[in-house]
This record gives sequence, structure tokens and C-alpha cells, in this order.
Amino acid sequence: MEPVIQLKDVRKVYRMGSEKITALNGINLEFEAEKIYCLLGTSGSGKSTLLNLIAGLEKPSAGAIIFKNQRIDKMDEKRLALFRQQNIGFVFQSYNLLPALTALENVTLPLIFRQVRPKERKRRAAEMLAAVGLKDRLKHKPSQMSGGQQQRVSIARAFINKPSIVFADEPTGNLDTKTTYEMMNLITGMARENRQTLIIVTHDLEISAYAHKIIKMRDGCIEKIEDNNPIFNKEDNVNE
Ligand code: ADP
Ligand code: MG
Repeated sequence: MEPVIQLKDVRKVYRMGSEKITALNGINLEFEAEKIYCLLGTSGSGKSTLLNLIAGLEKPSAGAIIFKNQRIDKMDEKRLALFRQQNIGFVFQSYNLLPALTALENVTLPLIFRQVRPKERKRRAAEMLAAVGLKDRLKHKPSQMSGGQQQRVSIARAFINKPSIVFADEPTGNLDTKTTYEMMNLITGMARENRQTLIIVTHDLEISAYAHKIIKMRDGCIEKIEDNNPIFNKEDNVNE
């Protein structure tokens, strides 16, 4: 199958004063469509940097990043913004919801950028919130919801445009075990249903059980790529 994303000899060096930090040191990788990937590695191994580069949030210092025959690393800010709106969804560890907006308003945001009409935006956002189990929380603000509920809102927001790639950077880092499995079941279930590529960053081995491929990173390099027979649903079961 054609890869959705290819990285060729990608390097990222940060300069801090006179010091150089090599966050990514020659990455060659391909992500296939409709697969679930897990990026595993200790803190500082370059996971977030890799996501940021693929999402076009940062430029590589060297190498090429190719999304369906387009060089992301060559795009200007305007094209990148469009590329992200059309193709990328994000789920963050810290949820990144706008505190002054309701759940419904937060989920409609990506549709505003896509110029969907207000009535249609509301209808689709309400449908997404129902799909993540929050049909009774449409008017709640983030501060009026639990961490798990806020993460559900951010999942609804990430998926509402049906982007071809969804990134999740430590999506369950702030959640308890039971909620972690609920979120993982939800995110991976939606990605399968919509036939999306899902790239999850984590340092939690349990989460990697959901992935088709487990990419292990170390010191800015790919240490190993493992194939996995992914699980679909996991319950928080003490007997396991
Ligand atoms: P991970 O997500 O695996 O914990 P990161 O990709 O965040 O790792 O970071 C990789 C390395 O790059 C770390 O050593 C980190 O300190 C450094 N780094 C990340 N972002 C920056 C930045 N904006 N400026 C300088 N150094 C950075
Ligand atoms: Mg990180």
C-alpha cells in the first residue's frame, strides 16, 4: 500500500545559544494508510519533535517529509495551515480546549476554518459529541467537566473533519487506567471506522497493544519497528 507519509533522512537540530541539541538524527520512516502506529520511547527521545514535523508545525533541519507526493517541508505557512486543516487531527495530553467555549463550540472550531455553515456545524458537532458519549454535556465548559470528559471533547474535535491522519501525543497521560482504556478504545475505534492513519505517542507499553506497528525511538533515532496484532477493545480488568 502507498504510504501516506514518508520521512527521508530527517534531522532536527535545535540551537540554544551556542549549544546544539540533535532531537532527530536521520529518520527514515513510512506510515501506511489506515494503520495504527505507536511511537514509543523515553522522555527526550524525539517523539514530539517527530509529530510536530509531520504535522508541519516545525521544519526539519535536513531531509524530506512527504505527504501523498507533496513535500510538507517545502510548504509556506499558508499552505501548511491549509494542509493541517484538511488532513490532520490532534489529540493532546493537556486537551487544549478553549476554556471560554462550551463543548459544542470547541468541537465546531475546525469546521469554522473549513467554512461550514453555522447550523450544519452545530449539527455535526452535536453528533460527534454524542458519538463520544457526551450528548448531555454540549453546553458545559471545560472547567465543568472531568479530565476524561475533556479528553472526549478533544477527541470529537480531532475527528470531526475526518482528517486522513490523527496524531495523539500522550493522549492518556493525565487519565486513570479505566479512563485510559475507554479513550484508547474510542480513538482506535474511530480511526478504524473512518479508515484513518493514527499515530499515538506514548511511553505506556499497554497502549502499544492497540497498534499495528510499534516504532521504538531512542536518542533521536529509530531503534526498532515491531509488527503487532492489535487489540480492539480492552477493559480495565484486574484479573488480566
Ligand atoms: P519526547 O517527546 O520524546 O519526550 P522531544 O521531541 O520533546 O522528546 O525532545 C527531543 C529533544 O529535543 C530533547 O532533548 C528536548 O530537550 C529537545 N527539544 C525539543 N524541543 C526543543 C526546542 N523547542 N528547543 C530546544 N530543544 C528542544
Ligand atoms: Mg513529548
